[in-house]
Amino acid sequence: MNKELLYSRPQKSAAALGDLAKDRHRFLDKKVLLTGETEVLETANGRDAFLFSLRLLVRICANVSVVLPNGQAALFAEAEQLAAQIAFGKPIEFLPSAIFEEFDAVLSIGTSVEPGLPWTTINSNGWRARVSSGDLPPAGECRSENPIGALACSCLGVGEVFKRLIALVPERGELLNGFSFSLYDLTADSDDCGPPLPSKIQSDLLIVGGGAIGNGIVALLCRLPMYGAIEIVDRECFGEENLGTCLLIGPVHLNQAKAPALEMILKAAGKQARGFEGPFAEYAATLDGKYPAVVLNGLDNIDVRHEVQRALWPDLIVDGAIGDFGCQVSRHPWKEDVACLLCLFRKPVRSGESIAAEASGLAEERVRQPDELITPADVNAAPEEKKEYLRVRIGKSVCSVVSEAVTQKISQDTQVSGFEPSVPFVAAFSACMVVAQAILHLAGCPRTLDSRFQFDFLQGPARGEHYPEGRRKDCLCQRRTNLDRLREVHGLGC
Ligand SMILES: [Zn+2]
Repeated sequence: MNKELLYSRPQKSAAALGDLAKDRHRFLDKKVLLTGETEVLETANGRDAFLFSLRLLVRICANVSVVLPNGQAALFAEAEQLAAQIAFGKPIEFLPSAIFEEFDAVLSIGTSVEPGLPWTTINSNGWRARVSSGDLPPAGECRSENPIGALACSCLGVGEVFKRLIALVPERGELLNGFSFSLYDLTADSDDCGPPLPSKIQSDLLIVGGGAIGNGIVALLCRLPMYGAIEIVDRECFGEENLGTCLLIGPVHLNQAKAPALEMILKAAGKQARGFEGPFAEYAATLDGKYPAVVLNGLDNIDVRHEVQRALWPDLIVDGAIGDFGCQVSRHPWKEDVACLLCLFRKPVRSGESIAAEASGLAEERVRQPDELITPADVNAAPEEKKEYLRVRIGKSVCSVVSEAVTQKISQDTQVSGFEPSVPFVAAFSACMVVAQAILHLAGCPRTLDSRFQFDFLQGPARGEHYPEGRRKDCLCQRRTNLDRLREVHGLGC
């Protein structure tokens, strides 16, 4: 395996923080311990949170150790088996006991806090995820089973570990102390665990995108009482760079097509599933009178979002989106006056001159003077990383330098498209919000999200914002009569 690629995405995310993350260059080699307390580990939520945390931790750190309290033989065996499947750096170490002071970060599934140590405690109850890295212990009631809350608390906990490992300055994101967040209504107040999950969820689902968010969605659907058929569409195969972000996969999945691999994982969990390996447009062409009513998107590109909207016009699309540390969910229901994906995701309109300026480091007004020659003043005015590039081209024509820079940029963009910064806990948290909104819709629960919720993961979801997004006046979604007719042909009713 190519070690450069394995952790490349989390590494890029840390590097992008610059001096705000003092240990951004050395966090992978630090030591992390995963542990827990018997009382919480013996609940379904505690078990889920423990195994989800293990899945996430191996992707941000090469030295993960596990210590479990006595009497946890079954969970120990399960964790050992999982570790053998997912570890891709060093093997995960299972220890009989540990000296906590030897670790750079400790993540514990439980209720006790250790403010004198680099310690984070997590647990969950129902839709509520709890986390504390300080002196305020999280509440201890954990019996309302819900894997969405469990995965969400693992994401928050591993996010805290990441902050410690990269030595994030508090101005960029403080550690969370006695914090809890509800995936039911996306608020941080109270300790309400929300309504119980339905015992049976009878609906077909389509998942578009089998990457980091898609992995989180599938991980949750495996643990939820889903009784319909689940289809997954993705055109790509898992590559080494996906190991750092996709929580379900291990080395065995490398070079496997994402959609069939996720189909196998769902089937192993007893679900009806079908993976479609290919572009979304090809999948849409196979639909014949039976279109999916609920679609979950885990995509990293605007074009496919638009294709999904234009081809399907389903009852509901829930879309997960991530940036470096930005984490988002948006709902696109047909029957409400809420933005569709065409309304919400607009392609940035960029002039050729601004692209040329970015690629070359020249100012835009200089790009507009193709016959001029590159001067020392151009070098001085260029961004730091472009100065050397321009310095060795002093005396050449602007036209030739711009043309060369744009060609290089296109080739670099193609090469690095698999290396965008990304961390697994942000993607999996977005998946939690996506699946939560889908389940609430299918269970007929009252609406808890108007259209879009977004937050910065390093600052925590309490600082998140709800954005109301109405339909745009000039958007295709305003042609309701035509689209209602299309939906009828698709078997979706009015
Ligand atoms: Zn629209």
